[in-house]
Amino acid sequence: MVMDMSLLEIRGLETEFQTEQGVVKALRGIDYTVDKGEVLGIVGESGSGKSVGMLSLMGLLAPNGTVTAGEMIFDGEDISPVKYKTKKEKKEYEKKMNAIRGNDISMIFQDPMTSLNPVATVGDQIAEAIIYHSNGQKVSQEQIDQRVGEVLEMVGIPAARKNEYPHQFSGGMKQRVVIAMALSCQPDLLIADEPTTALDVTIQAQVLSMMSDLRDKLGTAMIMITHDLGIVAQVCDKVAVMYAGQIIESGTLEDIFTSEEHHPYTKGLFGAIPNLKVDARRLSPIEGLMPDPSNLPSGCHFHDRCPHCMDICREQEPAIYSNGTHCIACHLYDGWDGKKEETT
Ligand code: SF4
Repeated sequence: MVMDMSLLEIRGLETEFQTEQGVVKALRGIDYTVDKGEVLGIVGESGSGKSVGMLSLMGLLAPNGTVTAGEMIFDGEDISPVKYKTKKEKKEYEKKMNAIRGNDISMIFQDPMTSLNPVATVGDQIAEAIIYHSNGQKVSQEQIDQRVGEVLEMVGIPAARKNEYPHQFSGGMKQRVVIAMALSCQPDLLIADEPTTALDVTIQAQVLSMMSDLRDKLGTAMIMITHDLGIVAQVCDKVAVMYAGQIIESGTLEDIFTSEEHHPYTKGLFGAIPNLKVDARRLSPIEGLMPDPSNLPSGCHFHDRCPHCMDICREQEPAIYSNGTHCIACHLYDGWDGKKEETT
């Protein structure tokens, strides 16, 4: 699943948490790549591990979380935490990640209000991001003012509004301000964790279309974390579907939206959204709940929810079967196009 010359390459990423109930494995071998200017959608229900993957990448896990295995290469630089073992090496890793966060990789979150300071003007907050990430280089007030105006205009907010406070902006405009902050240092990769979930549907569409335009204009690669396949269809080039800490299906947008072949879980995700072209009286949502990560079902972790479950599914974890760009981890696809890859 990994190609050469990517901006970001993740191989075999595993993350676990120490909890009162014991060790919980949140990620169980994740592989994906993002090329320059490309948008990857990571889809899954709450608890599938999609956000933990991004926090692992950014070095922002809670104190009880640890990356236990895997390789992360960003723009040719090895940022795999497992490679930094001693105290001195860990300090080196922190220094490296401090330089990368905000400058090369920026992250935006679901609720803009948690990312904005209510008692500072939006202009001051964007200026602070620019100064913080200037890496000690002297930036004049004039340069800062000009950059603040530029990024606000870039997200469709008149530069003159830089002296206003967050409460003077609507929800959609606040999320635009947050995106402006994230873009202020011209990152190569923007990670957006459910960026429009807190917004009304019409505002959601505006923000997504703005993000698409920015990608086309600036060539910024993006990882869009979402539970919404509509968002994926609108902005992504390729898609990874996560379940119980693993990627169970991945492919190009075409593979996921036009192919007949799918992991039963992905089929369930499609069955849970209304389709105006199909005369169906009811949606067909996936039965059951995401399993407890500390007590996963044996074999295929989806087997107790799967309508196609076979004996082998209860005993053996499926490998990843691939047909070109399209990969599915399910026993139903054993021998798919004669190609078989190792289980993640
Ligand atoms: Fe269903 Fe078996 Fe495929 Fe798992 S491996 S998704 S249980 S058919």
